[in-house]
Amino acid sequence: MAMIADNLQEVRRRIAAACRDAGRPVQSVTLLTVSKTFPASSVRDAHAAGETRFGENYVQEGVDKIGELADLRERLEWHLIGRLQSNKTRIVAEQFDWVHSVDRLKIAQRLSEQRPAWLPPLQVCLQVNISGEASKSGLAAAEVAEVAQAVAALPRLRLRGLMAIPEPAGDLVAQRAPHRALRELQESLQAAGLALDTLSMGMSADLEAAIAEGATIVRVGTAIFGGRPAASAPVSL
Ligand SMILES: *Cc1c(COP(=O)(O)O)cnc(C)c1O
Repeated sequence: MAMIADNLQEVRRRIAAACRDAGRPVQSVTLLTVSKTFPASSVRDAHAAGETRFGENYVQEGVDKIGELADLRERLEWHLIGRLQSNKTRIVAEQFDWVHSVDRLKIAQRLSEQRPAWLPPLQVCLQVNISGEASKSGLAAAEVAEVAQAVAALPRLRLRGLMAIPEPAGDLVAQRAPHRALRELQESLQAAGLALDTLSMGMSADLEAAIAEGATIVRVGTAIFGGRPAASAPVSL
């Protein structure tokens, strides 16, 4: 608990320093606390330390945590940031507030159809494979404009902007390049008439580079909760 509060203070200090360096107001960057693999009690601790927005990677884990924290539901915003398969869209449309990882039109169409009428529109970003890695999900940069226009027209979604997970890079200059590319892509969509206000980029290791290039949401896990256990190898019996 004390550790999470201390870590949060340090992350907020880094965000404020990066904003200062970039000549940006500190309120222009929102912290999304990435709670994947950590229990509901850790979310409760981070909430007690002032956080209200939480990011989850895996649908079922997120839904379980939303349920365990039902008493806080009105006060929390839940963001899905991991890969979404089409057979899981309904529960996501019903339970989450944001989806950062929309990577094809079909997923967006299902989310729009399945978003309950009593909830506000689902807030979405398109995930872009900005480093062009064969193994990564996300739209290719060249596909984004056409998909963005189609998603923006869906009635129960609100397209807010773009999200990326760039390839890790060592120094600030190298880290900035893919973040700049995502910002330029966003600017081209804005020039084409889309009202977008969100660039979801920057994690524990590269939030300074992302803020320098215009990030409006940074998604931070490790620097707040500590290291996650390495993905376990398949168990063979
Ligand atoms: C895990 C994860 C993060 C947080 O990464 P850290 O390095 O732990 O800060 C951010 N975005 C996505 C999509 C993630 O999966």
